[in-house]
Amino acid sequence: MSVKDFIPVRKRLFVGLLGASVLGAGALLTGIWFLAINPTRTLFDQILLVILTTLLMGGTLLAALGIGGIVLTILYSKDLTAFHGPIRIAVNLFFPIALVIGKIFHIDSEKIKSSFVEVNNDLVRSKALRLKPAQILLLAPHCLQRSDCPYKITVNIDNCRRCGMCPVKDLLELRDASGIKMGIATGGTLARKYVQEYRPRAIIAIACERDLTSGIQDTNPIPVLGVTNERPFGPCFNTSVKIPDVEKAVNFFIGEENYETAVNNQ
Ligand code: SF4
Repeated sequence: MSVKDFIPVRKRLFVGLLGASVLGAGALLTGIWFLAINPTRTLFDQILLVILTTLLMGGTLLAALGIGGIVLTILYSKDLTAFHGPIRIAVNLFFPIALVIGKIFHIDSEKIKSSFVEVNNDLVRSKALRLKPAQILLLAPHCLQRSDCPYKITVNIDNCRRCGMCPVKDLLELRDASGIKMGIATGGTLARKYVQEYRPRAIIAIACERDLTSGIQDTNPIPVLGVTNERPFGPCFNTSVKIPDVEKAVNFFIGEENYETAVNNQ
């Protein structure tokens, strides 16, 4: 069986584009290498170019190892410690290139970002994490709140009256039942403020593909499980989220037994 049989289509897109960007960079660097050894250059130019190219080629090799690490992690659902560094390089360095390649081939950037979130979630799930509820931060976007709700919940989330007209009520109940921390963010700045304030060991982030992608990269190396929000009325307006998906993410970090205990002790 091939890798194609094992890696679902949504994850394959990101991994494939990442691979294409490494191949492109490798081809470019090989060209530089040949230029560098051109005999018409001065000796100093040649040495400088060789050093530079060796460094860049090393980076490409690390990124290629990172892609190998991502594929193996997805295939075996196991955290491969030796690949942590290369995976980080592959994700952070080559992701923007993957987006450019996707654009050239007219692939919707939302699709690529969604694929990135899936791959990220698989990498996080491959880790054997057992955390205390207070070490987990649930970050939710402000657009989950009903647009006509008069209560200001970004400053104090407990201003919500839990009327049930939007998912904030269910998320608050989940927070109270499990004991995790929670913040409602209007953007990256507020999200970063919550991360600095709570210093979480893990984050569950609800957002659109774009914000999840930048949030996951911003908070690296804190593991983030991304849950994509639903946007029946278009972006950033009265959005929604599947509460069971958020519950699953909480369960993953604190363990199902601990979650049940926390809920039963309420
Ligand atoms: S649950 Fe009700 S009170 Fe709370 S934020 Fe939503 S609309 Fe406002």
